[in-house]
Order: sequence, then structure tokens, then C-alpha cells
Amino acid sequence: MTIETILPIPDMFAAKRILCIQPHYDDNDIGAAGILAQLAQNGAEIIYLTVTNDLMGVVDDSLSEAEAAEALKRDQFAAGKIVGVKEQFWLGYPDAGEYNYFDVRRDLLAHIRHIQPDFVFAPDPWLTYEGHRDHIQTGLAATEAVMFSGLTKIASSDPAVDATYRGHDIHGIAFYFTREPNVIVDIASTWETKQAVLRCYEAQFDPAGLDELVMALDMKSRQAAAGQGFEQGEPLKVLHTSALHCGI
Ligand SMILES: [Zn+2]
Repeated sequence: MTIETILPIPDMFAAKRILCIQPHYDDNDIGAAGILAQLAQNGAEIIYLTVTNDLMGVVDDSLSEAEAAEALKRDQFAAGKIVGVKEQFWLGYPDAGEYNYFDVRRDLLAHIRHIQPDFVFAPDPWLTYEGHRDHIQTGLAATEAVMFSGLTKIASSDPAVDATYRGHDIHGIAFYFTREPNVIVDIASTWETKQAVLRCYEAQFDPAGLDELVMALDMKSRQAAAGQGFEQGEPLKVLHTSALHCGI
């Protein structure tokens, strides 16, 4: 017996309900739209949860806050339709603002206990040189909420959910935006889809910015696929939920 037989890399393609937790409206798609589109095609329910209101990234300064929020949601729904996202949730914390980490963790615990995903996606909070606190807090709160979902002594923000929750299995967590990937997925079949998804985010990128984003992600996908036997890949760190503590 080896540690790999006890804690194998979980198979995300066996997942039936996947909760993708992101700090901003476009992070799941920038990090993993190629894979998520494949998982949706594979029959998994894909659910997005966005932690912040993302208002700081809106490029058109003439929009009111309400108009900017509407534009962000319109883009996100358009992108989600292409990926195959079934449902979306928003926590609305202030983008790049001051908010409490434990409030986010309580909200994520409530959603995980309510939605009961068998796989969770989130940004890697340990990405070296990640300077955006929203990404670090979201990734860490998602990790802790996955680890602690079965420990109902740790209260969520929804007592009614906690009262009826009887536990469920989360098979794994997949971190995108990672510098230590252990899975590279061939996204050649969904690269066109990913480009179409990215081009929905018009509120956050001007046309030149979108061209640059697509070009940069194209190059990154080719870099990730080097030596893998395919052209374009998305890198993930995929961990068994028991591997999230003490380096086991
Ligand atoms: Zn972001």
C-alpha cells in the first residue's frame, strides 16, 4: 500500500455536481473554462459562486453602480450559458474592499452544506506572487469550508441549513491559478468555447484587453501542455479533501 492508494488524485470527470467558487465574475472561466465546459458536456451540474461584487474592474466609468452591476451579471450569464453553468450564486462582498474572512467562510459553509457538491473548484490561495487579497481569501475560505463542511459545530451563516445538514462526501478540490499543478487537462476540444466565453466579459475588458487576454491564455495553455502530448492544457492542483491539512 502506498499513500497514493490511500489518497489518490480524485477524478473530477466522475463528479456529478461541481461548485466553482471564485473571487470575481471571470476567474472560474479564465482559470478553467476549458475544463468546466468538458465537465458540463460530461453531464456534471456546474454551479458558480462569486464572492465579491467585482465593481472595481468595470472599465466604463460612466456607468452607475447599478448599471455596472447589471452589465457584469449580463456578461456572466452569457458566459455561463456557453460553459453550461446550471446555477449562479453571489455573496456581494466589496471588490478589493474590507470584509471579514470568517464571514466569507460562514457563507461558503452554508452554500456547500446546501448545494452538497461532490467536487469544488477555487483559485489556489498559495499561488506565489498572488497580490490580490480577494483571491487569497476566497481560495482559503473555500478550502476551509470544504474541510469543515461535515463539522457542524462550526456554524455556517444559515442556521436552518446547519440544522438539517447530515453530511455528504466531497471527493476533491481543484485549484486553478496554481503554480504546482498535478493534473493538466487537454482543452483542445474546448479552446474555441473558452475563447467565446472570455469574449463575453465586455464590462471588464475593452476590445484590445480581451484580445490580449485571449492571446495570453492561448500562450499559457501551450506552455502548460508542453511535454504532455497535446497542444493546449489547463493546469490544476487536484487534491483529496484529506490532503488539505498538515501536508499528508
Ligand atoms: Zn479575480
